[in-house]
Amino acid sequence: LVSPASAKKIPASVTPISRDLYRPSDTLLSEIKALVARNPDRLTMDTVRAGNKGYSAEMLVVTFNHVKKTVHDGSKIKILLSFGQHGRELITSELALSLLYILTEKRKIAGVDLSSFEKILEHLVIKVVPIENFNGRKRVEAGEICDRRNGRGVDLNRNWSVDWGKKEKDYNPFEEDPGTAPFSEPEAQIMQELSKSFKPHIWVNVHSGMEALFMPYDHKNTTPDGAPSHLMRSVLENVNHRNFQDSCLVGSGGGAVGYLAHGTTTDYLYDIAKVPMPFTFEIYGDEKASTDDCFKMFNPVDKITFDRVINKWCMAFLILFEEGLRTLPDDQVVSQGALDNWVPMGGEILERNMDQKSGGENGKLEGLDLGMQELKTYFRLFMLSTFLLMFMFCSRISKNRSRDSDEQSTA
Ligand SMILES: [Zn+2]
Repeated sequence: LVSPASAKKIPASVTPISRDLYRPSDTLLSEIKALVARNPDRLTMDTVRAGNKGYSAEMLVVTFNHVKKTVHDGSKIKILLSFGQHGRELITSELALSLLYILTEKRKIAGVDLSSFEKILEHLVIKVVPIENFNGRKRVEAGEICDRRNGRGVDLNRNWSVDWGKKEKDYNPFEEDPGTAPFSEPEAQIMQELSKSFKPHIWVNVHSGMEALFMPYDHKNTTPDGAPSHLMRSVLENVNHRNFQDSCLVGSGGGAVGYLAHGTTTDYLYDIAKVPMPFTFEIYGDEKASTDDCFKMFNPVDKITFDRVINKWCMAFLILFEEGLRTLPDDQVVSQGALDNWVPMGGEILERNMDQKSGGENGKLEGLDLGMQELKTYFRLFMLSTFLLMFMFCSRISKNRSRDSDEQSTA
């Protein structure tokens, strides 16, 4: 028997996924769930699902928060770290797992003792999305190793509303399909809800393909104006200096990558969600790999490089936490508000900490959401046709009037 997945042939010159270095997505998620279960004083988790038009997505969100109550929750810095937004960038989700180990059970990175960071962690609440694009990642694991889009072909880093849908001259739908509308994709809806309800101070969208520390904007080749933007840049420059000996590219995504991107996550986070520090970290890239050799281009293929990348970027996050804590103005920390539980609109919480199941009416919210959208469209159409009718009616009357007056004058 030949299954559709295994029937797909990968050319001999193309590097296959190194199964001894990379966990399958299901294994990775079970390992994270086991880690959460072992560390209830630090980790909790939610599984969120959203969907529309017969497509649904599920996302695991892990929350790190020290139960030790020496620091008041309202004064903590809130951080969101998202990994695996692009399916083919497997290394990013491995980094998520390693980081969760460091936040809980591991005390060293490559022999370096981490106890100096322990105090910092008490001031943080960190939400980690280990695999943002689970459906897309599944397709990659089934053989579509060059695919970065979600389970129905949309690029989740082009589906946000700032400058959405604009296409550059070299636009390639296989890479950057923005979807049918801003937030048409369930994965993007879940992440947007997270930005609204969690209101993070720092958000890092983790990718691979090159090595860089990016800040907004992606849709233009400049960084935002003003003091907040300077703070953002100084945090990145300090991370670059302390951890990478200034070897990383730092700047706006649009200015430094060499192409503009429209409808990206961080541009929305900065302009609309008002996240003070939304970053994109590009953690690894093999620029010499040929364009169809995607696994090799986006992921380390040997153990030494794999470990080096993981260790280097775990440390980068710890330094980022320290720099963020030092740099974020106090009034900004307080203004972002207290920690709330978040319930995503259009989605539902499937599980909370494994045992407290909530929600039950599958797809009810989704139907409601879709119904509202259609209603709005019908209402707009109705208003438009009413306006047109009124216009025709009025112009008829004025024509009649002028004809009457013409007749009168000639008469
Ligand atoms: Zn990417």
